[in-house]
Amino acid sequence: MAAARAIGVVVAASLCVLALSGAARAASPSPSAAPIASPSVAPIASPSVAPTASPSVAPTASPAVPPPASPDPALVLHVPVLMYHLVGLPGEVPSALPNLVVSPTTFDAHMRALHDAGWHTITAADLATYLAAGTRPPARSFVVTIDDGYADGYTHALPILEAYGFVATFYVVAGRVGGSAHTLSWPQVRELLAAGMDIGNHTVSHPALTAASDWDLGWQIRRAQEIVLRQTGYAMTTLAYPAGDFDQRVEDAVETAGLGLGFTTRPGALETWAGRFACPRIRVSPGTGARSLVGTLEGFADD
Ligand SMILES: [Zn+2]
Repeated sequence: MAAARAIGVVVAASLCVLALSGAARAASPSPSAAPIASPSVAPIASPSVAPTASPSVAPTASPAVPPPASPDPALVLHVPVLMYHLVGLPGEVPSALPNLVVSPTTFDAHMRALHDAGWHTITAADLATYLAAGTRPPARSFVVTIDDGYADGYTHALPILEAYGFVATFYVVAGRVGGSAHTLSWPQVRELLAAGMDIGNHTVSHPALTAASDWDLGWQIRRAQEIVLRQTGYAMTTLAYPAGDFDQRVEDAVETAGLGLGFTTRPGALETWAGRFACPRIRVSPGTGARSLVGTLEGFADD
């Protein structure tokens, strides 16, 4: 238990560090799209702080006074979170389900089209920070998530992301990193982090969490945090449920572990403080056209 508490402290502390770096990244691509409250000063609060009625949108407050860094229960975000799995060539990973494999050419077309339409990325960790601070990310922000920790995230997806100045969150299965030629290695994970990418929790072994015992459930989440922290020095702040399998007990376990967001496979784009452990995502398939994807995101561009 002492170890678990210690990890929680590390996670909470690192969230503040992440907040600053994430805000700096998020602010740079689109300085003209100013959020209501500046994220550069806001993210201080831990997401574990109980939500209170926040005066964060206070038109009478002097601009010189930093806005309160606390969750705003009334804040409703529609930041699109794209869900990819493999970005590779058909057959490159023989065991991969074909409908999970988006070719590098298609991934490049998606990123180029979104870039050209004025969209830019923040990471899932950034999104958690904005939500915890009760502030809105810059307009036309979206998140790229790549689940399961395949090596093609490094070999194929990373160079394409970098070509457009984009970042992504890679949900790695901590117990499988370095486990085969098709999975990311720890040096690759460290290179992803060095390139400004975010690593997220996808448990130790990708079980169905709703079927796990209470002990296993907690272990799968906390042990994954420990493994990644030990191997990279990075404290993950968000989690994607393996196969989208979650319920209230699983949500509670993610919160107890000190994480800030939980992603499902339910379709949509909606982030609120109350619903932060059941965030939907937009599934991207091999046949998803670039124009269609841009159209989907435009439907969520509410500012
Ligand atoms: Zn998965």
